Amino acid sequence: MSKEPVEHNVNESVATVAREMFAAWVDEAAAGRVFGQVLIRRLAGGDYSLRHRDDAGAVDLDLHEEPREAREIAKLTEKGEYRPLKSSSNLRRGWELRVKSARDLAVAVNYLYPAAQVHWHLYREGKLDVTSYRENAARQSGIYKRIQRLSDEGVQNAARACCEDTVCLKKTLWDVDEETPLAMDRGNGEIPCPEPCSVFVSLARRVRLFEREDKRDLDEIGLSPSEKEDLAALVEAASAGSVEYAREAEFEEPLNERRLRYRRLTLLPKLRPAGRHED
Ligand code: SF4
Repeated sequence: MSKEPVEHNVNESVATVAREMFAAWVDEAAAGRVFGQVLIRRLAGGDYSLRHRDDAGAVDLDLHEEPREAREIAKLTEKGEYRPLKSSSNLRRGWELRVKSARDLAVAVNYLYPAAQVHWHLYREGKLDVTSYRENAARQSGIYKRIQRLSDEGVQNAARACCEDTVCLKKTLWDVDEETPLAMDRGNGEIPCPEPCSVFVSLARRVRLFEREDKRDLDEIGLSPSEKEDLAALVEAASAGSVEYAREAEFEEPLNERRLRYRRLTLLPKLRPAGRHED
């Protein structure tokens, strides 16, 4: 017999147990549970109600009753931009989803936060496999292979720019490698992050490019071409009256939020006298 059906059954049974445990966890909290940005409550009739946590007391929400509609809810931000990272803190508001069973709840939650329910369950059981940055980088190929050369400091700064609760609601479990823990606030959310995601890998690639610039292309006051590009873009946008962030995963853009968060860690200390930078 081939191995695949056995693995499939194991995965199915983990998903089934995760689904039941998750529903029980919601059921036992009278005020409901917050998972990512979603408030989940068991209603008196037995249905589950899901809505944005900031809409806890709202009464005029768009009502949906099909669990697969969570896919559309999770797809775009309030401004209509695609959300490449579902755990980013930019879930739109204004909707309520009512579903009838633990199975439907699992379907909805899996669209809102893919794989999160199973990871949540395995983490609580102490069985979630965690993959370090170096292990993940060793598996990369093509244009992403270069992230293998990112320095430990680069990984640390990229993680602080990309993974803190302000921008991603997952609790970061992975480290640089077995001996080098991430030195950052890993977050307080319920959804664990066991491995660098594709958005993080993409930022890591950009930070590696910045590191190469820092070795070759600094001007007489110690600024790299991309740092000057980012400063110019900021001054231009601010002087025109509004600084609009670029799309979430477009790290080649100077006004990308995570790229600017990285600059806060690495460029501000260059520009300000020691001691004036707030950490
Ligand atoms: S790697 Fe970072 S940004 Fe990506 S899901 Fe994990 S915590 Fe969030």
